[in-house]
Amino acid sequence: MNDILPGEVETWQFLEREAHRIFQLYGFAEIRVPVVEKTELFCRSIGETTDIVEKEMYTFEDRSSNSLTLRPEGTAPVMRAFIEHKMHALDPISKLYYLGPMFRYERPQKGRYRQFHQIGAEAIGVDDPMMDAQVLAMLCHYFEAVGIDSVELHVNSLGCRECRPQYRKALTAYLENRLQSLCADCQRRYQTNPLRVLDCKVPTCQEATTDAPSVLDLLCSDCDVHFKQVQQYLQKLGISYTINARMVRGLDYYTKTTFEMVTSQLGSQNAVAAGGRYDGLIQDLGGPALPGIGFAMGVERLVLMKGEQGVDAPRPDVFLAALGDAAGDEAFALMHRLQHLGLRAEMAFTGKSLKAQMRRAGKLNARYVVILGEEELASGEAQLRDMDNKDQQPVSLAGIEQALADKCRLC
Ligand code: ATP
Ligand code: MG
Repeated sequence: MNDILPGEVETWQFLEREAHRIFQLYGFAEIRVPVVEKTELFCRSIGETTDIVEKEMYTFEDRSSNSLTLRPEGTAPVMRAFIEHKMHALDPISKLYYLGPMFRYERPQKGRYRQFHQIGAEAIGVDDPMMDAQVLAMLCHYFEAVGIDSVELHVNSLGCRECRPQYRKALTAYLENRLQSLCADCQRRYQTNPLRVLDCKVPTCQEATTDAPSVLDLLCSDCDVHFKQVQQYLQKLGISYTINARMVRGLDYYTKTTFEMVTSQLGSQNAVAAGGRYDGLIQDLGGPALPGIGFAMGVERLVLMKGEQGVDAPRPDVFLAALGDAAGDEAFALMHRLQHLGLRAEMAFTGKSLKAQMRRAGKLNARYVVILGEEELASGEAQLRDMDNKDQQPVSLAGIEQALADKCRLC
């Protein structure tokens, strides 16, 4: 679990700001749900035999012996809230997004943490493939907006409750002869959740499944048409994608379209965003039979990808350097007025030498410095120093707020 400190937090704020901006262009509204839920919610939605539920959840009993879990993902809590507040009664289509921490007890490594953050979106109530393409378009738009271009969109279809069992059968038959080559986890997955074998990161498991049957060959006609239409819409929007029939995703609730944004920059933590359609989930959780599709992005991985081109802290517009108590008090009041005009204004707060105050202004990278001493107070003119070109001019104290406001609107 990480602390996010000034210096890095500006990149986080930028990524969050762009999420609010871009998602709202597409008519998505923010929803905020608690970080703890009843354990049962995740077991029922994500699936008992997934890695998350089997070994990654932070689960505890509260004082009334309820089993609670720190949320490992956002979709199930958002669906719980959607059902609980009967949101479908207000609007048959709900487009929601969320930002916040998630918790998984995983082996920590670069790009994988026990408290991490996701920005996610869910579109509920539309089963048309046009919505799949819309959600994917929004995801791609976000990556463009934040300036991360070394990613590829991978898409797949996992079929539905009709056709997936056929695929599971075909895959099981294929794996049966190769059990010895699979890792211990996959030998267990073979019994409980064979599709997950395709997702295993152990190289021998990947080798053993290189020519496994493709889920796309066994889709029913409804799922097949849906997937083709999603692709046609993506092509119409000029969005490039790669079909990856091995992408099975780690959560059981997905149906039809699934996708990932992958990068080669982060080693085996190569998925920066992932999602898919979940047409049976809301009903499974006791809600109406409404379809849905969504995704979640891992913010830590986005921050890693921004890397060196992170976002700088905003520089102060003005630093007030004051000499003597009377000038210090005047500077303090002036700083207050400047802050209310919307300028980032700073001062030293302690009676340091002018040299020390100028050093601090330099360290903070202030754009302008106002120098105010006893003499300046008496004459009604302070010195205004442009820290970029070192130009220094007298400026009347009466007009200083306006003068700084005008300059800083340009800076
Ligand atoms: P991975 O295959 O990397 O384990 P996942 O399939 O478990 O990812 P999802 O549950 O779909 O991931 O979560 C969506 C995104 O959240 C991932 O693409 C990733 O960017 C991020 N993510 C998931 N787990 C972690 C983690 N432990 N630490 C940091 N980011 C994570
Ligand atoms: Mg995972």
